[in-house]
Amino acid sequence: MEMSPLLERITDAIAPLRGSGEVADYIPALARVAPDRFGIGVAEVDGGVHGAGDWETPFSMQSISKVFTLAMVLAEGDDTLWRRVGREPSGNPFNSLVQLEHERGIPRNPFINAGALAVTDQLISLTGDAVAALLEFLRTESANPALPVDDEVAISERANADRNLALAHFMASYGNMRNPVDEVIDQYVRQCSIAMSCRDLAQAGLFLARHGVRRDGTGHLSRSQAKRINAIMLTCGTYDAAGEFAYHVGIPGKSGVGGGILAIVPGRCAVAVWSPGLDRRGNSVAGVAALDHFTTLTGWSVF
Ligand code: GLN
Repeated sequence: MEMSPLLERITDAIAPLRGSGEVADYIPALARVAPDRFGIGVAEVDGGVHGAGDWETPFSMQSISKVFTLAMVLAEGDDTLWRRVGREPSGNPFNSLVQLEHERGIPRNPFINAGALAVTDQLISLTGDAVAALLEFLRTESANPALPVDDEVAISERANADRNLALAHFMASYGNMRNPVDEVIDQYVRQCSIAMSCRDLAQAGLFLARHGVRRDGTGHLSRSQAKRINAIMLTCGTYDAAGEFAYHVGIPGKSGVGGGILAIVPGRCAVAVWSPGLDRRGNSVAGVAALDHFTTLTGWSVF
């Protein structure tokens, strides 16, 4: 399949959707991004990398970071995570407090905010510095040693973190937090504030299409662990829209409120899309539409 013309075609097809939806404004620094940007990048297992639109422009990865922190905890061989985090779709908004009370401080899955806070907490215990470990991994896999934490976004998110602080304190009250809440929130906010382009993200996520194998051919995850992460992306990666996403797109995907989505076609490629306008569930409007076109035109849905 000729990838570059396909990506140009998708970029043209979604053009009327550019600027649709709302840019996330609960993190003030994100609200300043132009809503009509759009990019798509594909990294293939044979080494090819292609893109169209603003695919080399960095944006805030936000919740897409949750895939990588989860993979790092599992890569450390630490399955005790599953005693403190579930694996079921939440059907609730990504920052919901209500469900956490019903479930006595055990988050439904690792991709809602509460679950991701537990993952970051665990990664701090395993590495001492979760963000440093994450950055090292992302820089190596994306072949971009300059990937930064965007301090402006991190400061802005830290100053508006009341909801995440509440989730973390709530888990702490049930004994489901190992490190001090402030430290976990600091690290979580910084991991979300890493700036990456579609090119960077597609390359960094390629290990999930390669059944756990890294860029240098070494194993990050076992085949079975990679399969499981892809399954959680499919069922939980777009929060309370995961059913809709599976219906329209049909491959594992993880969204972030910066407007990015990382999607995986196991055995073939990683696809990253970016457009900052979000639907009310926090997923990129043009990004989901582009992935719908992508799987329709390639026939590469998992179904
Ligand atoms: N950093 C954001 C938050 O904690 C991430 C949410 C998201 O991207 N869905 O609210």
